[in-house]
Amino acid sequence: MKATAKPTAKAAAKPPVKPRKPESHLAMVRRARRINRELAELYPYAHPELDFENPFQLLVATVLSAQTTDLRVNQTTPALFAKYPTPEDMAAANPEELEEVIRPTGFFRNKAKALIGLSTALRDEFGGEVPGRLADLVTLPGVGRKTANVVLGNAFGVPGITVDTHFGRLARRFGWTTEEDPVKVELAVAEIFPKSEWTMLSHRVVFHGRRICHSQKPACGACPIAPLCPAYGEGELDPEKARKLLKYEMGGQPGQRLKPPSDFPGEAAARADAAAHQGRVADLGVDT
Ligand code: SF4
Repeated sequence: MKATAKPTAKAAAKPPVKPRKPESHLAMVRRARRINRELAELYPYAHPELDFENPFQLLVATVLSAQTTDLRVNQTTPALFAKYPTPEDMAAANPEELEEVIRPTGFFRNKAKALIGLSTALRDEFGGEVPGRLADLVTLPGVGRKTANVVLGNAFGVPGITVDTHFGRLARRFGWTTEEDPVKVELAVAEIFPKSEWTMLSHRVVFHGRRICHSQKPACGACPIAPLCPAYGEGELDPEKARKLLKYEMGGQPGQRLKPPSDFPGEAAARADAAAHQGRVADLGVDT
């Protein structure tokens, strides 16, 4: 299994502790773009962590990913899409049977209602196809801007910023915004970066949030972008202890996808899959 030593080496080489000077907007934009370039070097393989083969599967998987891990969704969707491969099939699902299939993802009653509702709308209003416009996507039951941007960016190639819990937290730690509301975060970040960067920026930031810059214990002492981060010091500074906090391929653990892209340097989640069925996901250090 491949763990990268890059974070620790780089962070150790450049102790970043400096008193913060007031920063101009221009300086913040330059620093933000540098963070994006550094993250692109760190995660050249950044990708959506939900398994999908078409826009409908991505839409459904994204709805299921609320309040659970992408890994858990990836473990659930093969059986789901085998039983209900199209919007027509899912629209006609028996609610109890659908609930049973998606139960492992939590909140299964609400999610089943949303899936039947959005599949019915796709069947009746969009000819059984997922629309490629934000304005149409957000009319579907259970689909907000975040889900719509995930689908647009990854299934249609339309640039979008996906503000989930990780993206919002890191955008604030990086000093890109002070907003808490996801739509306001999205608009603030959109001002900083060219449109062409939006989708990959979203993946890189979420990757960093899941692997290094965790909500409770950010691994600052093993973070390659520490010299660029005003929040350096919020987390563990000791390099040895910080390295132990790294997750997924950065920590020598499996990723979340059962079928990761070919350039993913870590292992597929097959091992975690087996453990999850025994209810031991937490032991593998899996975070959302
Ligand atoms: S808070 Fe710490 S872990 Fe997060 S980006 Fe800043 S330095 Fe890195």
